[in-house]
Amino acid sequence: MTLAIFLSALAMTAIVGVRYLLASGGFALATRLRHPGLYRGLDRQIRREIGWSLASAAIYGVPAGIVAWGWAHRGWTRIYADAHAFPLWYLPVAVLLYLLAHDAWFYWTHRWMHRPALFRRMHIVHHASRPPTAWAAMSFHPFEAITGAVVIPGLVFLIPIHVGALGLVLAIMTVMGVTNHMGWEVWPRWVWRGPLGAWLITASHHQRHHERYHCNFGLYFRHWDRLCGTDAGLGGFAPPEGPNRS
Ligand SMILES: [Zn+2]
Ligand SMILES: [Zn+2]
Repeated sequence: MTLAIFLSALAMTAIVGVRYLLASGGFALATRLRHPGLYRGLDRQIRREIGWSLASAAIYGVPAGIVAWGWAHRGWTRIYADAHAFPLWYLPVAVLLYLLAHDAWFYWTHRWMHRPALFRRMHIVHHASRPPTAWAAMSFHPFEAITGAVVIPGLVFLIPIHVGALGLVLAIMTVMGVTNHMGWEVWPRWVWRGPLGAWLITASHHQRHHERYHCNFGLYFRHWDRLCGTDAGLGGFAPPEGPNRS
């Protein structure tokens, strides 16, 4: 049994690691095609981002692997496979509930990580990405990675979700984690400049967090930042060889 749990954790670590490399690698390639030179001079930073992110993948894999094993062999969690176990309208509602819960957890733990003692010891790793790149999505100190790794494995015990809807939550988490650090907007202008962008977090919003630190703490949505007065609007992107580059 111990071996089975260990192997499940190992498999999840591999999955999270490969998912990271594919997602970040894919968007880094898109960056090279759309904005050649945007990451020029950032090779050392990118190597660090990949190293920390792969370490985070190992940490994310452990609780995910334990819970996946318990789901398969012990009937743990409220993940369901029969799409009709709950009304169909619940499928998108569950996705939204997961994103809202994850966002709330992230907002408050992120603000906590900005307290000077924790910032110096842990969160400084993430903010070493100046400006962030597509590889920075999981670039966290291992202790900070633990605070992220427990969210979804914890939520599956609380909020029922169809296994496919859970896959969608993980896909949104991955894509937004990467694109929000990418240094350019992958979404059409009407999304992030329009009414939707007033409530959704995209790269311009998170870029400002990496510029100014004490604002724009959210993950998917802006409502916590707006409610708590920490929303500083959208940031700009430095040109590849602009004066802000160092
Ligand atoms: Zn960030
Ligand atoms: Zn931060």
